[in-house]
Amino acid sequence: MSFDDLSAELELRKQQSLYRSRRTLQTAQQPIVQVEGREFLAFCSNDYLGLANHPEVIRSFQQAANKYGVGGGASHLVNGHSQAHHELEEALAEFTGRPKALLFSTGYMANIGAVNALLDKRDAIFQDRLNHASLLDAGLLSGARFQRYLHNDADSLDKKLAKTDARRHLVVTDGVFSMDGDVADLPALSSVCKKHQAWLMVDDAHGFGCLGQQGGGCAEYFAMPNDDLQVLVGTLGKGFGTAGAFVAGSDALIDTLVQHARTYIYTTSMPPAVAAATLTSLRLLKEETWRRDKLTQLIKQFRQGCSELGLTLIDSPTPIQPIMIGESSKAMQISKILEDDGIYISAIRPPTVPQGGARLRVTLSAAHTEEQVNRLLHALEKVS
Ligand SMILES: *Cc1c(COP(=O)(O)O)cnc(C)c1O
Repeated sequence: MSFDDLSAELELRKQQSLYRSRRTLQTAQQPIVQVEGREFLAFCSNDYLGLANHPEVIRSFQQAANKYGVGGGASHLVNGHSQAHHELEEALAEFTGRPKALLFSTGYMANIGAVNALLDKRDAIFQDRLNHASLLDAGLLSGARFQRYLHNDADSLDKKLAKTDARRHLVVTDGVFSMDGDVADLPALSSVCKKHQAWLMVDDAHGFGCLGQQGGGCAEYFAMPNDDLQVLVGTLGKGFGTAGAFVAGSDALIDTLVQHARTYIYTTSMPPAVAAATLTSLRLLKEETWRRDKLTQLIKQFRQGCSELGLTLIDSPTPIQPIMIGESSKAMQISKILEDDGIYISAIRPPTVPQGGARLRVTLSAAHTEEQVNRLLHALEKVS
């Protein structure tokens, strides 16, 4: 059997400017990176607080590696649940103000595991149409009746919830939308959930560390009562600068996940040193409020500059600041010109975003300087 039809499909993808390829990074996550031998000023990392390469985080990782070795060794329920994992779970529960938190190896797995431990074909799931792929996949895999409501539109959700007679209803949303940077309207969504007795699950992968006085994400940003947001997911590979994810919630929720979440039960625990490093990054994330202040300043500077250049942005208060382009080919072309100028920003194209919604997904970090943002604006002036 030949692979000719695969090759034809790949060729078509290239012609449509939808072909994806990787770049090899030769440095740590930081504003100035070396990529395949060339230096770039990067605006595409999710290391929003500049913690991925922080000396204290690295030191905790090294010390824990000396103590625990490298591999997790087994799943949490066999003998892979180390003291380091346990301490991090307790710290995350305290940080989010919930009785319990449970670690997963990735955010993708946390979402698949949580949704599938809670729902089956007797149930119904309601998702924002711009939710992250891992949430959509989680819903599809569960076999629950699947509905998508209009982006961040509580009325659209209300209408859909009114028409269901399923056993359980789970409403799922990104906290900060990963490709748009806007924040889910949690108070409105929560009030609709209460009206229809639905659970609310929020995946705040991009909110933790960035939103809220203490970096507590969109829950803190809106001062949401804990009981109004029943399933809270955070990932550790973005603002926290490490790797992995967690689900926080009630004792009954977390116990159910331990019993039934297959992506928790049938996988090796994350390396204990990652958990130890995350414990340190959690402390820095909470204490070093200057990182959020710095982000706020850079976001303001960037948005003001773009507005002067007539560029189209999304109404986003977060470090995710996409410049809307439209056509995939044009987004690729601009990204290439910026690259020739030494600036690295990735073009995001369908199906990651809707048709005609190609964009340059600019992300800012507390590690960037004002001068670096000026350099970006200067480069954008040439292509706008
Ligand atoms: C990145 C992301 C994930 C996946 O998290 P990983 O830990 O990288 O697997 C899940 N949800 C959202 C909203 C994300 O942006």
